[in-house]
Amino acid sequence: MSASLAARTEPCWSPTRTEDTLSAPDPTTATDRPTSVDQAAGAADATADAPGPAWHALEGQEVLDILETDLQGLAGSTAAERREEHGENRLEQEAPVSDLILLGRQFKSPLILILLVATGVTLLLREYADSAVIIAVLILNAVIGFTQERRADRSVQALMSLASPDATVRRDGSRHRIDATELVPGDIVLLDAGDRVPADLRLIEASALRADESLLTGESEPVRKSTEPVDEDTLPADHSSMVHMGTNIAAGRGIGVAVATGTSTVLGGIAERMSEQERPQTPLQRRMDRFANIIAAAVIGSTVVAFTLGVALGGGIGEMFLVAVALAVAVVPEGLPVAFTIAMALGVRRMANRRVIVRTLPAVETLGSTTVIGSDKTGTLTENRMSVVAGWTPSGWFHLGADTTPLDDESVRIGAEPPDAVARMLRSGVLANDAYLTKDGDGGGDPTEVALLHAAAAAGIDPERLRAETDVLIDVPFSSENRYSYVITRENGPFMRLKGAPERVTELSQSMSGADEDASPIDVDLVLDAARRMAERGLRVLAIAEARMEGDPDPDDPPEPEDLVLTGLVGMQDPPREGVRDAIARCRSAGIRVLMITGDHPATARAIAADLGITEKDDVEVLTGTDVEGADDAALADMVATAPVFARVAPEHKLRIVRALQEQGSVVAVTGDGVNDAPALKAANIGVAMGRDGTDVAREAADMVLTDDDFVAIVAAVEEGRVVFDNVRKVTYFLLSTGAAAIAAILTAIATGLPLPYTPAALLWLNVVTNGLQDVALAFEPGEPDVLERRPRAEQEGIVSRALWERTVITGLTMAGGSLWLYTYAIGQGLSEDAQRGAALTTFVVAMALHAYNARSERRSIVASDPRTNPFLLGAVFGALVLHIAALHWGPTQALLRIAPFGLDAWGRMVVVALGVVVVSEVHKAFHRASGPPR
Ligand code: ADP
Ligand code: MG
Repeated sequence: MSASLAARTEPCWSPTRTEDTLSAPDPTTATDRPTSVDQAAGAADATADAPGPAWHALEGQEVLDILETDLQGLAGSTAAERREEHGENRLEQEAPVSDLILLGRQFKSPLILILLVATGVTLLLREYADSAVIIAVLILNAVIGFTQERRADRSVQALMSLASPDATVRRDGSRHRIDATELVPGDIVLLDAGDRVPADLRLIEASALRADESLLTGESEPVRKSTEPVDEDTLPADHSSMVHMGTNIAAGRGIGVAVATGTSTVLGGIAERMSEQERPQTPLQRRMDRFANIIAAAVIGSTVVAFTLGVALGGGIGEMFLVAVALAVAVVPEGLPVAFTIAMALGVRRMANRRVIVRTLPAVETLGSTTVIGSDKTGTLTENRMSVVAGWTPSGWFHLGADTTPLDDESVRIGAEPPDAVARMLRSGVLANDAYLTKDGDGGGDPTEVALLHAAAAAGIDPERLRAETDVLIDVPFSSENRYSYVITRENGPFMRLKGAPERVTELSQSMSGADEDASPIDVDLVLDAARRMAERGLRVLAIAEARMEGDPDPDDPPEPEDLVLTGLVGMQDPPREGVRDAIARCRSAGIRVLMITGDHPATARAIAADLGITEKDDVEVLTGTDVEGADDAALADMVATAPVFARVAPEHKLRIVRALQEQGSVVAVTGDGVNDAPALKAANIGVAMGRDGTDVAREAADMVLTDDDFVAIVAAVEEGRVVFDNVRKVTYFLLSTGAAAIAAILTAIATGLPLPYTPAALLWLNVVTNGLQDVALAFEPGEPDVLERRPRAEQEGIVSRALWERTVITGLTMAGGSLWLYTYAIGQGLSEDAQRGAALTTFVVAMALHAYNARSERRSIVASDPRTNPFLLGAVFGALVLHIAALHWGPTQALLRIAPFGLDAWGRMVVVALGVVVVSEVHKAFHRASGPPR
């Protein structure tokens, strides 16, 4: 029995360990609480399968005691032991597609059906060599397809699970970010808005906490959570003292202790009931299927034509059947599915190497046609490494740091003994703050808040001491709706300390005050003007305010701030990320617009946008969330068509911007990190979430996750997306043109009364062995240097472009002509029939080996790409030639393929044919480059 199954049927604590801990109440003897094993089992009925005591009905401290833990968290060693005992904190793995189904799927294509029919026909005709080869190919194809698909599936799944939620826990007294699968009962879990709840937790602390439990209850309105025990018999939906695995923290903050993990959770109990979803097909896959149908129609059409033509010209029915089989075999692109799977899987892997985790397969190709990227500023375009460099209080300007240029002539440099006004403001900055400083001098938490701690420390305030001295009653974290955060402390009575966006804080403030307690009425213009001066420098500006409160506030219903005293402003610098400028320039040449969509001040946004090259002029108009709000759909359409920067944008504005862009036919990639960004991420063609600083909710809504939040990675992913599509196209073109060559040659032979130059077995050899190696190798093509210099591909553009169809026909005809030329030459030389066929087939092998190099680029000359950049192709070409020459000389393959060797003069002619195909292809490329639309 697996560990997770054990956890299902047994309570979540270890009775043996409880016995030797005197202080903990013994759950088996406590009678006034439902903590015995029996009662727990009874309670399980009421709690949808969750075993263990009715945690929701216990006091928080009792829960901690039973689970032998406390707010300092488990010891690492205890956590390891419990992990052994309870297993990983994960739900039953989604059953992978069964091998049988996967194998069956390999035979579903109409093309395989054609080959099956061909097997039947050859058996009837007693052409056993051909039947054997076709059957071998069918088996080979199924095995390769099966293993490839399984491997690709697994690695894609493994990559996707990399984006699975983390959890913040306290262990050994300090906080850690761990993989959610490592949680054990007793772990102390810290919750923040945007977190996905990683296990079933009993709340120990809750501050304005609300959870979105729609996953469990279907109720989309977030429900209020508190630490108060609830009645034992209430249903899980009403367990306001608990938060359950899989639900989201919509707002506020809290601390909970894990009481159930993995399959023992409420979600685990119902997970089995949740229907398993079939992975949707990607548009490219759908197009591939349609393509297969076209091929099948071509097979049927061409065999009917060949058959009637042959019979009309007096060919024997039996022979014509064989011709039909040969045609069918020639047309079916046996290598395509495998090459396609490889191209996709490689794309996903390459993106991962460039720090992008793709969560949905369709994203791989949609990326390639992205036309607009809407990006957050902070953290994505900039480092999100803030430092306070300047500030303003009603008593005057100040600045920090040795090499900061002051904003004002009278600005005071801050040292360990700052003016009182600055110290007063920074104290609020420390208290209305959830970040922390680490020993190495760095910090954890929101970088905006870390910067305030650093500034306070630079001004001689010890943040840790100040916090230790101050009781915090209520803590309302920052949200991009409110644009502020505050705490209510107890300092001779309740006292509010708030920080937030300047416009917002001035709205909430009545007065302003420097060092002394006498406040003067607030001069909003003066304050906002100071804020603007900092913002124009590209600084992120925060206002800080405070207020004495009347009466004790209710933690479950935090008060709306009002009548505050503004104590000042701080301006923070956030350097642009390395490489972003460059990436934005590349987007421009790739025909991709970059929009900055930020919650920050318009002047800050403008300064940074100009610095990064998002806007070309300094004085571009920056639109704001208010503009978006006031605009009707038509006006908004105009705005999004031209504006490069949107500032002070709330998540709902972002959603409207995305929709408006899509209305205009844009393919939109948009970034987001907060809980409320989820709708915009879902609506976008490519939702991009942040792996480092984003929330779980955003990650779940996204199509891809940037592992280090870097804008540059988005551009890299777009590039790789284009490469995937290019490679699928290259493989398809190569297969189509070689198929066309075989059909043309066969039909011409029949029409001119020549015997069939290739047996079905020989054509399969060509398609599966010699070309087979090459088409898989083409899937490994690295990107062409100009991938980011073309316009985005139109979303509905077919796998094979018009130019490539033309080229398919002309190169196909050239190869067909060459092969027939060698065939008739061998006949004229009086060679054996096997040698005649050998010459015809070898012409194809040689010409197609070079043709694989033609297929490396749709537009660029064969000599423009370095053969060393795809060693697989080099290997595949030489491998194919070596194998083929061996087959020409080896008895068994001679018999199977009905071929024999021929003289050097024939080889010479084959080289000429091969070069001819290159020339034809080059001429067509040159013509197309000259006349075609710029791409
Ligand atoms: P973005 O991430 O696009 O820069 P945010 O929505 O995070 O925008 O921030 C908007 C504004 O809210 C900032 O300009 C700043 O004034 C304020 N702000 C940001 N973070 C905090 C915070 N932790 N506490 C208080 N105010 C904040
Ligand atoms: Mg932000």
